[in-house]
Amino acid sequence: MLNIEENVILSKFCTWHVGGPARYFVRVSTIQDLKEALLWAQEKKLAHFVLGGGSNILFSDVGYAGLIIKIEGRGVVINGSELIVEAGAIARLAVLKASELNLGGLEHLAGIPGTIGGLVRGNAGAFGMETKDSLVRVHVLHNVGNEWKEEILERKDVYFSYRDSLFKKETGSYIIWDATFALIPIPKDVILKLVNDDLSARKDKQPYTFPSAGSVFKNPSLEISAGRLIEECGCKGLKIGGAEVSTQHANFILNKGGATSFDIHALIEEIKKRVFEAKGVKLVEEVIVL
Ligand SMILES: Cc1cc2nc3c(=O)[nH]c(=O)nc-3n(C[C@H](O)[C@H](O)[C@H](O)COP(=O)(O)OP(=O)(O)OC[C@H]3O[C@@H](n4cnc5c(N)ncnc54)[C@H](O)[C@@H]3O)c2cc1C
Repeated sequence: MLNIEENVILSKFCTWHVGGPARYFVRVSTIQDLKEALLWAQEKKLAHFVLGGGSNILFSDVGYAGLIIKIEGRGVVINGSELIVEAGAIARLAVLKASELNLGGLEHLAGIPGTIGGLVRGNAGAFGMETKDSLVRVHVLHNVGNEWKEEILERKDVYFSYRDSLFKKETGSYIIWDATFALIPIPKDVILKLVNDDLSARKDKQPYTFPSAGSVFKNPSLEISAGRLIEECGCKGLKIGGAEVSTQHANFILNKGGATSFDIHALIEEIKKRVFEAKGVKLVEEVIVL
């Protein structure tokens, strides 16, 4: 039975801690509930938006007029050398569970704060590893006509590239329910060391004291980092309202207290303008602006 809530404040559901109310909000922990929620929105002719961990989203101050569907299936199953993770689980949970059996291969994803659904959609990556690297297949709901059909897509069918996938290109057509990864034998203590080393490296390089959404812009190429360009344009410390470009990592925008979505959005536009004027590079957002 779906519990559809009304006027739910979205700032609680994104790592930037900004955003107004969702007209409707529902948490789904089974694929049947997900189908029911989609049907409910469809019957009411409402837009819907699928939410994972909210670590890559800028919600609007005016909120969202449709149904927000928060994916809460968090099951993690190990079947031989395969790891099957439901979309609402965070990567660290899956990595730690596999490590109990001395199995690994996804260690560098463990520090990314999003859910598996968000990671697969955006082919999230860190420390030279991308989500696609050990991914085998994805179990999805695919919107065909007015119906949502369950499908299994092999990795080759998802057309992954840098922070990109079929799911991103065809936003709205696919919802990831679970993903299967190939595991390889690695001793538990080695896995835990890799995870902890990554976390320490993140704390050294990235600001964790104030709310953020990680890197705001994609790197323009493998050789050119967005953070470096922003820094070279003198944007570190640039502030609009409560939003500030981190002085530690220029591709992070921090909510220094009381920032609105408007402030963050204005700062994003200002950075894009300055980088284009000074460097001739058009930065593209990695974060989803809703
Ligand atoms: C401190 C910090 C550090 C970060 N470090 C990294 C990093 O090292 N590397 C990196 O790549 N990213 C990083 N990020 C960004 C972010 O964690 C990733 O982009 C992550 O993959 C987003 O997952 P999410 O579950 O939070 O997605 P959300 O923010 O909830 O959603 C992002 C997009 O994915 C869609 N989505 C979510 N779940 C599903 C689903 N089940 N099916 C279909 N679509 C779905 C949403 O509709 C939305 O369009 C960082 C963020 C923070 C705050």
